[in-house]
Amino acid sequence: MGTLNESGIKNTGNFQSVFSFVLPTKIIFGPGCRKDISAQLSELGVSRPLIVTDAGVSAAGVLDKVRSGLPERLNYKVFDGVEANPKDINARSGADVYRAFGADSIIAIGGGSPIDCAKSIGVLAANGASDIKAFEGKNAPSKPLPPLICVPTTSGTGSELTFSSVITDTKNNYKMTVKNPFTAPKIAICDPELTLSVPPAITAATGMDALTHAIEAFTANCSEPISDAAALYAIELISQNLVAAFRDGSNLEARSRMLMGSMLAGIAFSHSDVASVHCIAESLGGMYDLPHGICNAIFLPYVMEYNMSFCEQRYARVAQAMGAGNKNDDAGLLAKAAVDTVKRLAKEVKLPPFSSLNVKSADYSKIASFSAKNISTESNPRPMTEDDYMAVLKMAIG
Ligand code: NAD
Repeated sequence: MGTLNESGIKNTGNFQSVFSFVLPTKIIFGPGCRKDISAQLSELGVSRPLIVTDAGVSAAGVLDKVRSGLPERLNYKVFDGVEANPKDINARSGADVYRAFGADSIIAIGGGSPIDCAKSIGVLAANGASDIKAFEGKNAPSKPLPPLICVPTTSGTGSELTFSSVITDTKNNYKMTVKNPFTAPKIAICDPELTLSVPPAITAATGMDALTHAIEAFTANCSEPISDAAALYAIELISQNLVAAFRDGSNLEARSRMLMGSMLAGIAFSHSDVASVHCIAESLGGMYDLPHGICNAIFLPYVMEYNMSFCEQRYARVAQAMGAGNKNDDAGLLAKAAVDTVKRLAKEVKLPPFSSLNVKSADYSKIASFSAKNISTESNPRPMTEDDYMAVLKMAIG
């Protein structure tokens, strides 16, 4: 299947399945574009937004940067009670504030945590509900959400363009996905200037998260040609700009390219899917409250090695997008170069090894079990059982 490109690597896209591609979110991108929020609120016909953010975004002065562009007469309320790996109880508190204020819309300002929490606040507000658990899964019935504007301040999750909200179920300590056709934001205001203050360690973790989205979307068994195109350009942008953004956070060109890379990766995986790397990262995030991007960065090369025999040609295309390997390398060499480049990037941006996370080996079987049950396991190019997840966990600990 597929035609050969110049170096003999097959363009193995799936052109034989029926698919649809809907991007319901209007994208506004570019340095300074945060000033557009005001016009977008008018266009949506709303006037009492709830701003959803977190303490770190506020402390970094990013919230003020956005607020300074809002009209003086705008009546809004700030809810900054979002924790990392946002919790079901954060969504409930936010929905209470939404109702008490009589809000008519939501503006999420932050990384994936405030954006995901804002989506779930919208689900609860729209449905007059208080427990987000009732909306878990790929298609739980929901009424349309209040208009949601997302302003990403990290270049990682792409959540400003995806249909899902990842929320920690605090009773069972696992991260559930709330996904329905209404959770996609109405508007994404993507201003790279708002990412200039992201500290190096968070730049590294979020950047590797975005790279994982793109690689998993491109190799998932439900990928399609449009998500492939977005994924490949995302891989190019991220692999060529992550180190520059990490070394010099004030590099607006690198920050802009990283933000576009993470957005394209978000478009790619929300139309294809993520896969087993994310299943492990979400299990670890739910059980140990660990940063999502760090978990992805650690497991990406190990899952790639596990998948290798099932998608060597696709990993070869990943290597080409990264500019890795040599012109005359065959698919096997290129695919290996893709894994090596992922490992090198993680090292260059100083991401920690699995052993430093202090995950108890007694918990491995629970992590493997949560991962195998995750809705994205079925998208992994190579089938993965609980035992296979155990093997990958052991490989990563060395
Ligand atoms: P995050 O939102 O948790 O932010 C990480 C830290 O960075 C926080 O302390 C925050 O205050 C700080 N921060 C954010 N922007 C900043 C800025 N401009 N300057 C200084 N500090 C800043 O991290 P994240 O990686 O963006 O999001 C992770 C969450 O997103 C996880 O819960 C993950 O599961 C979820 N996620 C969701 C999707 C989706 O499609 N819904 C996809 C991937 C990941």
